[in-house]
Amino acid sequence: MKVFKFGGTSVGSVENMRTVMNLIADGEQKLVVLSAMSGTTNKLVEISDYLSKKNKESALSIISSLEKKYYNVVFDLYATKEMKEQGKHILEERFEVIKSYTSGVFPEHGGRALLAQGELISTALFALLMQESGYNALLLPALEFMKIDSDKMPDSYFIKDKLNSLLKSTPKADYYITQGFICRNDAGEIDNLQRGGSDYTATLIGAAIRSEEVQIWTDIDGFHDNDPRFVENTKKVDTLSFKEASELAYFGAKILHPQTVLPAMMNDIPVRLKNTMNPPDSGTLITSDSKTKGIKAVAAKDGITAIKVRSGRMLNAYGFLKNIFEIFEFFKTSIDMITTSEVAVSLTIDDPKHLNEIIAELKEYGNVEIDRNQTIVCIVGNMISEEKGLAAKVFTALEDVPIRMISYGGSRNNISVLVNTNDKKATLQALSNKLLNS
Ligand code: ASP
Repeated sequence: MKVFKFGGTSVGSVENMRTVMNLIADGEQKLVVLSAMSGTTNKLVEISDYLSKKNKESALSIISSLEKKYYNVVFDLYATKEMKEQGKHILEERFEVIKSYTSGVFPEHGGRALLAQGELISTALFALLMQESGYNALLLPALEFMKIDSDKMPDSYFIKDKLNSLLKSTPKADYYITQGFICRNDAGEIDNLQRGGSDYTATLIGAAIRSEEVQIWTDIDGFHDNDPRFVENTKKVDTLSFKEASELAYFGAKILHPQTVLPAMMNDIPVRLKNTMNPPDSGTLITSDSKTKGIKAVAAKDGITAIKVRSGRMLNAYGFLKNIFEIFEFFKTSIDMITTSEVAVSLTIDDPKHLNEIIAELKEYGNVEIDRNQTIVCIVGNMISEEKGLAAKVFTALEDVPIRMISYGGSRNNISVLVNTNDKKATLQALSNKLLNS
């Protein structure tokens, strides 16, 4: 059975929901993962922020406009009076839960429970639409089988076990509809797989049921060789290996949630990125095949902080780097790029939450310099660190851009450079002009 995942825009309006229905209803059994309708999760985040700041009035005003929007959706989505009533009933139930958080003390887990309502609504409305249209569609509750452990990592054994028994015990359906993004944590509370996590749900499910293919449907026809928001004339990439796709997703390609590739890679399940607005296009196919050599694409990740520690104590000393890395480990802050010289080490982080504590500890070891507002530009492909002359081409392409750090040879799939975010667009454009399109 194939797994199809549709993002917020794909189910973002009545018209789009109908498009998705017509697209999946080809008689072939599938499991369909849906996001919340576009904009909903952001609204739920706002509601939760207001409630944690005890601003009940502002929360209620957003709830009321969201509720109005959904009643209009229900009115337009269904043809019969009976189904409109059932749709309203779904909304009553969900909005009762949302409103329940506006009275009393807002609990710690309240935000996560609120965030889950978007997917619970979109899937229930969509399954009802399919049923009204005469399809054998069934809702599978993700909160019964999606689970994360105490480290917030998906519990793949639990997911596999629960989902497969759920599929065995529920009546046979042609189309199973389930929620992306949401799950339970080790305490049994409602939780999630982080923003954009529906893609991750899809490959976790694909791995659990040993799906023949996971298709991620968005509003663009696959991975592009550069970021189309900043660069003109980008081209779709037809195939990528799992390693290339995960580098691109991790280093900023917005089309895929960074962790999505891992379950597919570990279980060798092909992932295809497809465009809801252009279904005949074959999209980008991601598999274990890594035969095609050369540079495939470029991606950029903003919000990077570079940290340099300079110390005479590093000279010919062992254990210096270990001490430095332990500080980051202690503060659960992951490091993306590293470069060293004999007396200094530079590294980057994307989560500055504990930056001040980290700096204070690092000062024990030497002089610390911080550069904020940095961007990692990542050049991804196969065997690129082995190809003669390729490094020269990259650096010639970037001759006009000041580069803060370079990482080369860490893997066969990636050359990364760190630039000031103000130089990002110029960097991406130069790589397109002089490397990808030359
Ligand atoms: N609805 C969630 C979000 O907006 C998850 C997703 O769409 O993948 O982040």
